[in-house]
Amino acid sequence: MRVHGDQVICRRTNIPHRRNYKYYEDDLREDFHNMCGYCGKSREISSRDFHIDHFVPKSQAPERETDYNNLVYCCCVCNWKKSDKWPTGDPSIPHNGDVGFSDPASDEFDTHLMRDEETGEICPKTDVGSYICNTFNFSTRPIHWVWKAEQLQKLINQFNKRISTLSQEEYKKYALINSELGECKKIFLDKE
Ligand SMILES: [Zn+2]
Repeated sequence: MRVHGDQVICRRTNIPHRRNYKYYEDDLREDFHNMCGYCGKSREISSRDFHIDHFVPKSQAPERETDYNNLVYCCCVCNWKKSDKWPTGDPSIPHNGDVGFSDPASDEFDTHLMRDEETGEICPKTDVGSYICNTFNFSTRPIHWVWKAEQLQKLINQFNKRISTLSQEEYKKYALINSELGECKKIFLDKE
């Protein structure tokens, strides 16, 4: 399974240039389907702020600070983990086949990383994938709990759509899922 599940992240090419990269937030949120480009966490279940990461860090390519193609919508944890790491030292080379990054809005991203269908964990497929997993600390973060919370949130959204027509039985299930989601959120917010 892909890190982003069934969502394909693709930056639109007709976004007008904006003076400050923060002004792209709405555009990015839409193109990234409201999820972190790196770990796939949905903004909907996160109670923390989402950030805008510069894929090629500003320290490497200051001229790309407001270049939409260089911006990644991401959770604050991923943004902190990546900070201004850029191991190739060359702004035009994201990775050297060994270490470095892959743009989450490119097809190439899926060649380096995958998501375990059973557990929701993010696993490397290549050396670059391993570098990314280590840099973002995917194996020690509560990726599994975030994944589980997202599955529960999807069920809740389905119930919410027809909340007024739920049977008593369904309503009980709905309440149970809601409390399970609360538990999941408590666990992953504690751990991150
Ligand atoms: Zn993230």
